[in-house]
Amino acid sequence: MSENSVESVEKVKVRLAIYDRASSLRKDGNRPFIHPADVSGRFTTLRRVVFYVLIAVWAALPWIRIQGRPAVFLDVEARRFFLFGGSFDATSFWLVWFLLTGVLFSLLLTTTTLGRVWCGYACPQTVFLEGVFRRIERLFEGNRNERIARDQAPMSWSKALRRTGKHATYIVSALFVSHVFVAYFVSIPSLMQMMTRSPAEHPYAFVWCFAVGAILYGNFAWFREQLCLIVCPYGRLQSVLLDDDSAVIGYDEKRGEPRGKGKAKPGETRGDCVDCNRCVVVCPTGIDIRNGLQVDCVACAQCIDACDDVMDRLHKPRGLVRYDSLRGLRGEAKRFWRPRVFFYGIAGVVLVGTAGFFLTTRNDVEARILRLRGMPYVVEETTIRNAFEVHLVNDGDRARTFEVEATLQGVEGTVTTGDGDDAVETFEVPPWTDRRLTVVVRAARDSFRTGGVVHVDVAVGRETRELQAPVLGPARTSRAQTPPGDG
Ligand code: SF4
Ligand code: SF4
Repeated sequence: MSENSVESVEKVKVRLAIYDRASSLRKDGNRPFIHPADVSGRFTTLRRVVFYVLIAVWAALPWIRIQGRPAVFLDVEARRFFLFGGSFDATSFWLVWFLLTGVLFSLLLTTTTLGRVWCGYACPQTVFLEGVFRRIERLFEGNRNERIARDQAPMSWSKALRRTGKHATYIVSALFVSHVFVAYFVSIPSLMQMMTRSPAEHPYAFVWCFAVGAILYGNFAWFREQLCLIVCPYGRLQSVLLDDDSAVIGYDEKRGEPRGKGKAKPGETRGDCVDCNRCVVVCPTGIDIRNGLQVDCVACAQCIDACDDVMDRLHKPRGLVRYDSLRGLRGEAKRFWRPRVFFYGIAGVVLVGTAGFFLTTRNDVEARILRLRGMPYVVEETTIRNAFEVHLVNDGDRARTFEVEATLQGVEGTVTTGDGDDAVETFEVPPWTDRRLTVVVRAARDSFRTGGVVHVDVAVGRETRELQAPVLGPARTSRAQTPPGDG
């Protein structure tokens, strides 16, 4: 067996050993608490900017009002959602479906082209863990070495005080996050009111705030990377979403190997990796990127910044660990356009575009006419009765006056609206509510011919809607015939 093949077998053995267990488990099955080392660099700076912009937008959204409505308000109690000026109820769910599936395909497209950029830069787990909770830990407990030493040290006054301060700040931060979260469902004015009153007056909101705060505290204080490694379904999907052309964070094995510490012996060939382990100790999921692309890598780019820093000190070119495709890391030609990029791209554009079109052309006022359930018509002594329901929706933030006028065309008889005997009705519909109005047609039985219609004109301010429905009955009736729905 050649020296090279012996080396390859050894590498495969190492990799199999790695995949034998989760990266965050020790051989004995225990979980080592990961303390990533501090790192600085261009990607770390970029991520911090993205984190704080996202946190600011998220905390500000419940306060912002668009056209008098909250920018984002999921009013579960009234089953109505407000999204950037639009309001939706259960009947608009089809629109939200277009929007959500469009966003899903956009995320698939992003993953296929840019890899797990969502995980590294925008996932709430990463944003709050790296942007808030790890910063708090750093403040109270110091750098990686200090934290590890304190973990192993016996309890002391200094350790107890630091731990108490850290966990108290965690709890306050988790409760702040849970209150903003609940504000998306109850609105900021209601939340403010609740905070000044007894929890007994709003038990559900109180329990939600408490439960979400407790889950966040447990997650960010203890569970941390385990959420990405064993809970998150998106992370598990990476093996099917990524291909050899997706941008991933990878180690340039051709350039880095054979790795080695210290000076090379005479005649020994060395790659650029000096085996300093910096890329490993900064990793928040505890993996070694030099073992290849792993499902546990959340693409945080900390190992890129760490290795670039090492390369700068050694006066070697950056990029031993870098963003590249697997094909690029192997030194092969890269491709951007692949069938899946076309498919996800077209699906995302069509779905988001459809949702956008209907959202922008949607009107605050809707009017529909439907035949009442049951018999399509009823043959009476001298008339044929058809009953309809006009459904009027006011999706605006102010009350509107609806004027409804019903007339008959191609049929002799009378038409009435509502409870009265008139064919005209005027009434006010409060904001974000609807009203149903009955329209009854009594067609003269003797002269009835099919083909007649009832017209309903709905006027709201300057807008008008023209509705129409056929008046049904037997094609030709006489008193001797047995009517289909007599009574
Ligand atoms: S930081 Fe760079 S040089 Fe150091 S071990 Fe990692 S890959 Fe090798
Ligand atoms: S391997 Fe690198 S990019 Fe992946 S999680 Fe670890 S530090 Fe982040």
